[in-house]
Amino acid sequence: MALSTQQIDTIAQALRSVLNPDQILLSKTDRYNRTRVPAPFPVHRWADFLPDLAVLPTSTEQVAGIIKIAQDLRVPVVPRDGGTGLTDGAVALRGGIVVDLKAMNQIHELDLENRTVTVGTGINMMKLNEVLAEHGLIYPDDPASYPCSLVGGRIGTSGWSLIGSRFGHTRDLVLSFDHVLPSGDIIHVGDGIGRKVSKSSSGFQLKHLFMGHQGTLGIATSATLKLFPKPEAELSPFWAFDNYEDAYACTGALARAGVATFAGAVLFDELKVAFLRRDDEAYIPQPANVRALVCAALYGYEDEVRAGGKRLFRLARSHGGRYLGDQVSEGDWAARHDRYAVPLHGRTREGQVIPMSWHCEDAAINFTRIPAVSREWHGIIADLRRQSDVFDDWGMFCYTSGSTGVDYLTELDVGIWEQRLDEASWRTWVGAKRDLASVSLANGGSMSACHGSCREGEVDLLPQELGKGFEVMLDLKRTLDPHNIMNPGKYLLDRAYESAPSAAGAARE
Ligand SMILES: Cc1cc2nc3c(=O)[nH]c(=O)nc-3n(C[C@H](O)[C@H](O)[C@H](O)COP(=O)(O)OP(=O)(O)OC[C@H]3O[C@@H](n4cnc5c(N)ncnc54)[C@H](O)[C@@H]3O)c2cc1C
Repeated sequence: MALSTQQIDTIAQALRSVLNPDQILLSKTDRYNRTRVPAPFPVHRWADFLPDLAVLPTSTEQVAGIIKIAQDLRVPVVPRDGGTGLTDGAVALRGGIVVDLKAMNQIHELDLENRTVTVGTGINMMKLNEVLAEHGLIYPDDPASYPCSLVGGRIGTSGWSLIGSRFGHTRDLVLSFDHVLPSGDIIHVGDGIGRKVSKSSSGFQLKHLFMGHQGTLGIATSATLKLFPKPEAELSPFWAFDNYEDAYACTGALARAGVATFAGAVLFDELKVAFLRRDDEAYIPQPANVRALVCAALYGYEDEVRAGGKRLFRLARSHGGRYLGDQVSEGDWAARHDRYAVPLHGRTREGQVIPMSWHCEDAAINFTRIPAVSREWHGIIADLRRQSDVFDDWGMFCYTSGSTGVDYLTELDVGIWEQRLDEASWRTWVGAKRDLASVSLANGGSMSACHGSCREGEVDLLPQELGKGFEVMLDLKRTLDPHNIMNPGKYLLDRAYESAPSAAGAARE
């Protein structure tokens, strides 16, 4: 139930004590624009996810003021940065105030000697790197959403980077941050008393607790990030294979080779190659006997990249890989930030383009379990397709998460014809999501390597994945956020309040 006009007026009035009037957004357009995310969305129920207000703070103190007001009035608060998260994290499931952090996009301090930068969490990595490039530096958090996701959302999701096998992922790259707790108190999270220590053993390691919580434990407002020399050379060879088995074996061998400049290896399966052939305008056509592709990325100084590259080329050849040439290799790697931005991508059928949105399953799976997961996942989507033409299998890719090849971001892409979604097909989809997640767990993996697992369907399995750890999550949530104002409805955390009133309910009474 939405808040009444009078309740919204009361909240807006209170917010005027910490924000200017132009930082408080009440119009339908402003609220609808901050509702959806680029994952399949039950568009037939769009209005259920509208926030009551949106605000655009410009400082940590303003964020703290907003949260204190929300505490007093028991109103839900949902942090939102780029709004590109794929697990509905920035969707206001219980209405309330969306805190849009995009105006907090300043560079506060660039420390060239200690190699750090301190930024507002509303900054985008691509924009930040444009400034850092002038100093020969890079902040190497490089998701496929690099042009549109922001540092705060990377913290809120504990994101995964395409070149993480060389430089680490968001959790490794963020040294520390200012964080507003659900009480409105401001704490500094990180190692040591300053902002720039990368390793300490003092006390609990709170940095990990306050990352990946999807905004359920507060809001990160300013972050200090690790910087690296901008790599002099980048090598990204693509190899073609006649069959999946050789390509799979090759990917494992590349990851295990121990090449220091190795930034990642990716395996594209047969259905992914078919999808690229059919639906990706940027794909450079390959002969029909190409059934699987493998790519590797190396970053570093020219001489070390050349030496490492030679070793990987030898390995790929010995597994039957055919090098696709410089043009394809460089072009495909350069398009890595566009390739997966396929919301409203089309499937051509009988000469007609069907607009489809994109779901991406993002499990973390050990190398040895990838073939089994792949078989079972494709089987689940084949079943779905037999039931309805709303769904399409866009294939899989597997991507190293680290430099030793232990586990892979294992991604299945599914096309969904959103205009045809109704409650029945949405329910079918939610059931399939549960089945996909269950395969990841049965194979000893995690449901999510990067996006988080808040979505309908998969979230039901969170207690199974975390075991007793899930009860610890509930205890922590109840202690830090006694009235459940921070992003209620996510991660089954409402269960922490089952015997106590929460903001989600109280605000509407
Ligand atoms: C085309 C495409 C490609 C993608 N590729 C990748 C990829 O390679 N790797 C990857 O990891 N992800 C990827 N994603 C998913 C998404 O980009 C990431 O999850 C990203 O980290 C979200 O950042 P955002 O700024 O958009 O956050 P949002 O979507 O705004 O927020 C994400 C979550 O964090 C919370 N949050 C937002 N800001 C804060 C804050 N300041 N403090 C605390 N919590 C906060 C939100 O409430 C929400 O729960 C992709 C998405 C798309 C659309």
